[in-house]
Amino acid sequence: MASLSQKASIVENHKHQQLVEQVLDQVPDTQAIDSGQAARWREQIKALLIEKNAVIIAHYYTDPLIQALAEETGGVVSDSLEMARFGNQHDADTLVVAGVKFMGETAKILTPHKRVLMPTLEATCSLDVGCPADEFTAFCDQHPDRTVVVYANTSAAVKARADWVVTSSIALDVVDYLDSLGEKILWAPDKYLGSYIQKNTGADMLMWDGSCIVHEEFKAKGIIDLQQVYPQAAVLVHPESPEAVVDVADVVGSTSQLIAAAKSLPQEQMIVATDQGIFYKMQQAVPDKQLIIAPTGGSGANCRSCANCPWMGMNSLENLYSCLNQGSNEITVDADTASMAYNSLERMMNFKVSN
Ligand code: SF4
Repeated sequence: MASLSQKASIVENHKHQQLVEQVLDQVPDTQAIDSGQAARWREQIKALLIEKNAVIIAHYYTDPLIQALAEETGGVVSDSLEMARFGNQHDADTLVVAGVKFMGETAKILTPHKRVLMPTLEATCSLDVGCPADEFTAFCDQHPDRTVVVYANTSAAVKARADWVVTSSIALDVVDYLDSLGEKILWAPDKYLGSYIQKNTGADMLMWDGSCIVHEEFKAKGIIDLQQVYPQAAVLVHPESPEAVVDVADVVGSTSQLIAAAKSLPQEQMIVATDQGIFYKMQQAVPDKQLIIAPTGGSGANCRSCANCPWMGMNSLENLYSCLNQGSNEITVDADTASMAYNSLERMMNFKVSN
């Protein structure tokens, strides 16, 4: 008979499965778009970017067509911390954020005087969905003695309740710093990233029970089996992956840190446990190295979102063109929420690793 925690895990997995099923139906099939049409959208977007003084800010996990266009037009492709910094410092009037909703909200909160558009408002994140603001607020209220640190993958309302926002590139350093001040942490929402930080800092951390449906699918056994085929390969793992996967890594880090590691490591082959969208920029950084996606779901599983975030996949050239052309999908955040979330985001933006 299944234990209570096993039952909870089954329910959680079922909810995740349902989430994926719902969203996969909305992911455009980019393979089906003919190259002529794609070229027309690209040219139309380029013209609109100039006409509207707009810039594209794209995440590493979006379609390589979007990443390439962002690069060609003076925009940026990066992780969520650099996306936030870039939007904040760029002089465009309109920021077109290709990613998931919390990234658009963050851009708006940090740069309220600019218009922030997104190709789709449907693109969310299982970490955001799994941490509703009302439940999270109640959780925080039960633990007033703890400093609230939330991952960037949360709604504006959750950020507004937090003392600190962090991305995976600085989460470890921020918690280490707070721990050195003797502060106890309430961490949300990713339990795997939280455990990784807790293990490496020894900080007193109370965890919210959330996870990323993409990284959760990576399996240590599959990576170990793959190492038999590629015994010289380095293993690069994003810390949203389960602990057993992190344990077999040569390098654990954020998307930007994994790209930097691919460059600096001597190995010619890399087994990579994060969303496959990263291969576009990683291959640019190491054109002569072989990149191999880490196995997901185990040999008998029926994973349908393997190493591809279904929400990131909702961004396409077509809906990017539409939002820019029509000025649609504008991000708004109510003033009180934005002002409270700004404080916790500002701490992140001002945090220096040397703290
Ligand atoms: S890859 Fe995971 S953490 Fe990133 S947006 Fe998708 S569901 Fe969220």
